Amino acid sequence: MITRITIQGLVQGVGFRPFIYLLAKKMGIKGTVANRNNGVIIHAALSDEKTNLFIKRILEEHPPVAFIHHIDIEKIEWKIDYSNFEIIKSRSESDEVTQVAPDIAVCPDCLRDRERQKHRLSYPFINCTHCGPRFSIIKDLPYDRANTTMETFGMCPDCGKEYMDIYDRRFHAQPIACNQCGPVYYAVYGNIEYRDYSEILSLTAQLLNKGKVIAAKGIGGYHLICDATNEYAVNSLRRIKHRDTKPFAVMFQNKERAKEYIYMNKAEEDCLTSWRRPIVLLKQRKRPASGVNSSMNTLGCMLPYMPIHYDWFEQIDTPALVMTSGNLSDLPIAVTPEEAERQFGGKVDLILHHNRDIHNRVDDSVIHVCGGQPCLIRRSRGFVPEPFFADTDVEGLLAFGAEKVNTFALGKADTVIQSQYIGDLKNWETLAFYTESLERFQHLFRFVPKQLVCDLHPDYMSSREAEKMALQHNLPLLKIQHHHAHAAACMLEYGLDEPVVAVIWDGTGLGDDNKAWGGEFLLCDRKGYIRLSHLEYAPMPGGDKASEEPWRMAVSYLHHFGLAIPRTLIERIGKAKVDTLITMIDKGINTPYTSGAGRLFDAFASLLGLCDLSTRQAEAPALLEQTATDNFSDRYPIDLSTDPVTTQSLFEGVLNDLRKDISIGLIAAKIHNTLAYLILGKSKQFLKNADATKVVISGGCFQNKRLTEQLQSLFSREGIPLYVPSKIPCNDSGIAVGQITIAAKQREEMKISRNNEN
Ligand code: ZN
Ligand code: ZN
Ligand code: FE
Repeated sequence: MITRITIQGLVQGVGFRPFIYLLAKKMGIKGTVANRNNGVIIHAALSDEKTNLFIKRILEEHPPVAFIHHIDIEKIEWKIDYSNFEIIKSRSESDEVTQVAPDIAVCPDCLRDRERQKHRLSYPFINCTHCGPRFSIIKDLPYDRANTTMETFGMCPDCGKEYMDIYDRRFHAQPIACNQCGPVYYAVYGNIEYRDYSEILSLTAQLLNKGKVIAAKGIGGYHLICDATNEYAVNSLRRIKHRDTKPFAVMFQNKERAKEYIYMNKAEEDCLTSWRRPIVLLKQRKRPASGVNSSMNTLGCMLPYMPIHYDWFEQIDTPALVMTSGNLSDLPIAVTPEEAERQFGGKVDLILHHNRDIHNRVDDSVIHVCGGQPCLIRRSRGFVPEPFFADTDVEGLLAFGAEKVNTFALGKADTVIQSQYIGDLKNWETLAFYTESLERFQHLFRFVPKQLVCDLHPDYMSSREAEKMALQHNLPLLKIQHHHAHAAACMLEYGLDEPVVAVIWDGTGLGDDNKAWGGEFLLCDRKGYIRLSHLEYAPMPGGDKASEEPWRMAVSYLHHFGLAIPRTLIERIGKAKVDTLITMIDKGINTPYTSGAGRLFDAFASLLGLCDLSTRQAEAPALLEQTATDNFSDRYPIDLSTDPVTTQSLFEGVLNDLRKDISIGLIAAKIHNTLAYLILGKSKQFLKNADATKVVISGGCFQNKRLTEQLQSLFSREGIPLYVPSKIPCNDSGIAVGQITIAAKQREEMKISRNNEN
């Protein structure tokens, strides 16, 4: 009898097989271990007692990045006498897949090896079994070198020896490389081609020191880089990127240097220093150059994660580099030398390439911490394609997501695999990235779609792609209401499969009454929802234009509630424009109605004189949030007895305070406090009347850290369980996961009812 142990989870590309091998040797176990596309499979001659001990040690001692989801043990009737323990060759077995590791920041051991290993002295693409590129280079499963973009690099004898040596840190490290055989950087500067790393390093460091802007190929794409403390350099970068005000992310030499510029608590420091190396949004202590994040007092920070990042900081004078995605305004991040040359050629001072191809484009991820809980805002490098466990069958479901900050997701067995951050699907380059990634995910995860899911909104590019595929392949297409999908994503994350009260506040999403929703109170489970209440509809004069010009919403709400428009607002905008807008509202010209909470924040930001014209998404609410003082108790009166909820008294209160010259900071705080109180109050009402005990919040408005943290503390004081999206973004990046969750539940119920009929 032979024992077969199948381990599923994140067990490939993270040093799992060598770990098993060494453990088996230590324990005197004889048998084999192999990667299969459904996990790692071990065959050994074992007693039950020994099996248990073996499993216990696997669970306790596995490599840090590895994650075990499921272990299967079975006895099989094989008559084999194993003479030792061996790692055997990978074999593609079935359509089941195992997890693919996300890209991992270079580890401390590798950084040390760069100083002492003869063939890797200063080598910039060093990696080992525990670190290096993974998702960005993988083309197929199983995770073997031949299935990655490293296939074109033949291993030198030194690397080959290490690769085969079970006792080496690079045993079976698929991207293994060194100065003799691995990828190299190259650049052309002043008609001279550079290939020597130390020359490239000193040249690029000199340029950065002089305030120049360079583009450099990284793990998941190109970055645009300059000295973050040099105003001139930062402004040139802004011009190159055609980006007026959107804050740039900054890479600091180390956490100590970062602390000169930002404040962080333990949870935030853990995020910043984790092997995933995301951009962490932190409270600013000191501004680098003002052009980095102009009027914001948060700063997106990250730490070095490639060897060259560490090397730059050794050679440059500044502790902080702007490190922003290498793309022009809203295009996808460049990944090939051709794309980089086309976008930045003649604009930046130097483009640094390397010859390890990026197969899967991945932007830097963005995260912030709310009430001690990390909450992802952009889920990409370092996280993707780690799956979510659905506790239900999601096989064959393909969800197309929403329109802005899009991701898609697919269902494999009981796991949901979410794509990397794609972006806004409005330009064809991003759409091309979307369709390309869709194809690559289907191939990589051996995915055959059986049912498609998209948003209710017919004009989203993602919905159109879904329609197209449904037609082409004759597949059923399910359309899911946007805010229900927001709620369901959070329910999946926390394994909730029961009715909950969901407060979904965002900019906009199409409702089942064909109106723009976005200030929603739902009673929902994974299958369906009832709209309990919502924020009162308000006119949105000019449609989408109103979300770019917050003053329109200020005028709109005030006019809607029959309140006088403050003189200061009229003066800033101009009487003629305000009058025209009012005529538009009265005559219903190009004026849809919305219950979107995002528009409410816009209106207040304009009313307080913080932002009349928005230059980027969610600028107005972000300014309103950061203006609010630390007063968490004062608020405006609000009537909780009506459905829909009217915010008229809130506007009256703000106008009153403005007349009394109350500070803008206090007014902003009172607005937040009132909205938090409103959410709590309504939730309590609904919990009392409904068969639910839990509250879920989601939607882009909860990227507002102040609001979210205030809700966390209010709800915990009341003893009401509040679920805040953490691993799945609360913005529209999370929609695809919610779509799958709902489709899976509906499919399951349909199967049950069909079985009952038979
Ligand atoms: Zn390493
Ligand atoms: Zn080598
Ligand atoms: Fe949304």
